[in-house]
Formats: sequence, C-alpha cells, structure tokens
Amino acid sequence: MSYQVSVVKKTDSADRAVRQAMELLGGMSAFVKPGQSVLLKPNFTGPLSSDDGAVTSAPVLESIIAQVREAGASKVDIVEGSGAFHLGTKKIYDILGVTELAQRCGVGLYDANELEFRRVKSPDFCFLEYVDVCEAAWQYDVIINIPVIKTHPLTEITVAYKNMNGLLSPVDKRRFHDLNMRKAVVDLTTALPSYLTIVDGITAMEGLGPLEGTPVDLGLIVAGGNPLAVDATVARIIGFQPEKIDYIRYAAEAGHGSWHEEDIQVLGTPIQEVYRPFKTAEPQSRHYDGVEIFEQEMPQKCYGCRAVLTIAMTRIRECGHLPGFKGMKVLLNGSNPEDMPERGEGEHLFCLGNCTKEYYDAHKDEPGIHFILGCAPSGLTTEESFREVYGIPRPSEHVKGHVEE
Ligand code: SF4
Repeated sequence: MSYQVSVVKKTDSADRAVRQAMELLGGMSAFVKPGQSVLLKPNFTGPLSSDDGAVTSAPVLESIIAQVREAGASKVDIVEGSGAFHLGTKKIYDILGVTELAQRCGVGLYDANELEFRRVKSPDFCFLEYVDVCEAAWQYDVIINIPVIKTHPLTEITVAYKNMNGLLSPVDKRRFHDLNMRKAVVDLTTALPSYLTIVDGITAMEGLGPLEGTPVDLGLIVAGGNPLAVDATVARIIGFQPEKIDYIRYAAEAGHGSWHEEDIQVLGTPIQEVYRPFKTAEPQSRHYDGVEIFEQEMPQKCYGCRAVLTIAMTRIRECGHLPGFKGMKVLLNGSNPEDMPERGEGEHLFCLGNCTKEYYDAHKDEPGIHFILGCAPSGLTTEESFREVYGIPRPSEHVKGHVEE
C-alpha cells in the first residue's frame, strides 16, 4: 500500500502553500464533505511564539479554517489542551491571539483539559492498558491535526503523533511522562479516530526542543492522511532516519502503516530539495556547582533524563538556588553503576528515571536516596523533588517552568 504525503515549499503566502499541499492530496473536499463538523487540533503548548517554531502559526490555521469552510463544513472548532496548567489553555489562547482569531473567523474555541474524557482500552495497544482522551475526538466528523516540527528529547522529533497529547486528560498528560512516551503516543493514535495531518513547517525548531530550541526558517507545509507516513517524511526532511526513531518503528509494528520510502509517495517538492538536517535535542552534559552526575552508557541511546535534568537545573539556577545543592548526586541512565561512591553524611542521591529503578530498589533502605519515577519524569516533577528534599521554596511564578510537553 502506498501512502501519499504532500510537501510544499512556501514561495509567497502560507495560505497558498497550504492550499497547494491540499490540492496535491485531492483538495480539502477529499477529506471534508458538505455539512460535516471539523475539529482542528493545533499545537498551542504554551505561551510561546510561532516565530520561535514552538506553536502553530495563525496564517496556517486561518488558511485551514477557510478551506474547510469552502469544502462545506457546517461547524469548525479549535480544541487544544495545553500542558501549561498554571496558565490554562484559555489564557494561552488569549496570549497567542487565538481568541481573537477564533472570533474573527467564527470558529469555536475549547480547552480540551476542561471537556469530558473517554477511557479507551484496546487489544491493539502496544503498551498502555487504557488512555483517557478528550470525548470531543468522537463528536466531530473530521479531525485535522496541525502540528509544528520540533526536535524532542523523548521522542527525537515531535510532529503528528506527539501533538495529539494535547487531547489527553490532564492526568494522562502527566502519566505519559511516567511511562514510556515513545510507546504511549503510538497507543494514543490507535485510540483516536483517524485524522488528517497538515504540518505547519513554516518555522520549525531544532536543538533543545520542544520549548527552548532554535528556530529554523524551514518554509514547508507537509500534509497527509496517514500520520506515520507524514512523520517519517518529516523525519527524512530534517535528517533523521525514521527506522531509528522508536515511536515510528512501534507505530509500524502496531499496524499504523509504513515508514519505508518505497511505501510513501511524496507529492510536490522532492525531499532532497528541501532537506535540512536538524540538530538533535540532545543536551550537552553540564556541570552544576555542588552536583555530581553519574551517567551510564545505554545500549539504546536515550537522552530523555539528561534533558529533564538540564531543564530542572536551568529553572532552579534562574531562581538563584543552585548553591543549595551541595553534596547532591544524580544517577542517570543506569541500574548498576560500578563507580557510584559512598554518600557522606547529609548527602543525597537522586535516581532519575525508570532506568535507575533497579539500582534504587537495591539501595532504597539507605538514607538520602530518592527515586524520581518516569520515562522520562517531567521537568516539573524533577524540579519539585529537588526543592522538596533541600527545602527550597518554589518561585511564585515561572512561566516556562510549568509547561509539560
Ligand atoms: S528512564 Fe531511561 S529510557 Fe526513559 S527517558 Fe530516562 S534514560 Fe531514557
């Protein structure tokens, strides 16, 4: 079976590029029939800018709204559930100008975190027992996923699959961080009705994504009816090998389609003409005063917990609290480190992430040892664990510090 993915380089307006991408797939009318209702799922993960490549841009969203209307949609709503819980999705809508856009375009605007959820169980899940997903996903005839392109320390890249996390219940948004995100996102797409993906790749993000990376002026729209083919194509465009990305492999094994080049028909601009390799989200090992980090080589390369440590420490450093961590040790990526020294009186060892559970279980009766659950744990959970053990108060407000992506 061949999956079609359109790739269009923006030459003038975003609207024109989105239209060309859809025309290559047979037009919006191939996906939206007169009288149908449409749910739009953009990426509004936090109060960040589309100029930074962090969130879906207004011109792409407006173009899609116009096209679904032209196709005869009877109802069009934007539904997103941000991980910036301290602000709430509605506040983020306001900050990003989406409230104004929705009013201007006459579309509904909903916070997925405040809607009803459906618990989905499926024998086809590769990992989860259940997943709690926004009920709205079953209340519309068509879902259009509108992600951006970013590198990510847990899933390598975030495009169509990871963007659907916005439709999880708030509890599951956090729970996914306690699990294996690379498998959980596959089960989420298994749980959902099928969706069309239109990727806003006008400005993307490389490096320490999904929040603090570097913007890339990619100027692309990528679209397709099969999210695995879309993500595999984007992966190739930005210099990743799809078969080396865990969630892409798991998705193929779960029967979502294929990442193989010969199974994907790229329409429009060939990949080699828009190829632009991205820096990965792998953070450099950093030094923090008073903190010793023990990091093991992993058979399977993963820098999720190192990224989480970097995020938590950066937040704490920005608040001027790092000197409070004298005698602190952090174990990453390993279960049985041979070089782990004895801890002195009053020193603490944090076993960060599920990979360290075996070591923690073998030493948990010792004083000063702590385990932070998750694969990877969230940055916020990690930061709070450090603060709690060292009695360091939380800052009253720290915008990026609360975004769970
Ligand atoms: S727990 Fe292990 S596999 Fe999971 S993110 Fe951390 S290092 Fe990676």
